[in-house]
Amino acid sequence: ILDINNLYKNYGATEVLKDINISIEPGDFLVLVGPSGCGKSTLLNCIAGLEEITGGTLSIGGKDMTHVSPKDRDIAMVFQSYALYPTMSVAKNITFGMKVRGVDQATQNAKLKDVASLLQIEPLLNRRPSQLSGGQRQRVAMGRALVRDPKLFLFDEPLSNLDAKLRVEMRTEIKKLHQTLDASIVYVTHDQIEAMTLATKIVVLKGGIVQQIGSPAEIYNNPANLFVADFMGSPA
Ligand code: ATP
Ligand code: MG
Repeated sequence: ILDINNLYKNYGATEVLKDINISIEPGDFLVLVGPSGCGKSTLLNCIAGLEEITGGTLSIGGKDMTHVSPKDRDIAMVFQSYALYPTMSVAKNITFGMKVRGVDQATQNAKLKDVASLLQIEPLLNRRPSQLSGGQRQRVAMGRALVRDPKLFLFDEPLSNLDAKLRVEMRTEIKKLHQTLDASIVYVTHDQIEAMTLATKIVVLKGGIVQQIGSPAEIYNNPANLFVADFMGSPA
């Protein structure tokens, strides 16, 4: 569903991503981990098409997407900041993208209903984002991604603004959600526990270079180097 080959990304003279090679299969839950500034968000933005890549190729669902605009990629992204429209109701926030894409009103309403029920936010649909808790905002941001019904979801630290208890709750919900969806996920976090519990596959990134790719067990039990061992808390 996603193939990244020899991807490079520079900002000016700075190389932020170096020779990235990642592929994921349908249904994979790929978690991208690494320290702050290692290039996680940049890589997600490249997959989403929000950043032009400097070198290499990228395909989604078997189609070359290297130079395709974000709106023509079969993906939906949930940002760390949620990026909700403050003046729109929850319902409008969720349906706005469909409206822009010319989806008819009946389909919009049906999808809104489905997603609101799935995320248990029916009572909140007429509120503004400012009238919601952090966890509720997070659900709305997920709702907006879900109505796109893509084959690939991109999540950039979706739980980092939540308190510890809610983070654990939402982690369980995201895992459940993934099991009900016919979609793959690329999920960024710098939380090792989140990575270990959610992932089918983990990519460890440092300084824009992939250190290791493997299942949670492989990464934990057989870290490729000291950095990975240290970062993932593997036994010495
Ligand atoms: P964090 O965990 O803090 O979110 P990250 O792994 O997501 O970090 P990125 O945001 O991808 O890191 O940034 C990777 C590097 O690229 C950093 O050194 C950052 O300063 C740099 N960078 C990001 N965006 C730009 C930009 N628009 N112009 C120049 N440099 C940038
Ligand atoms: Mg980031």
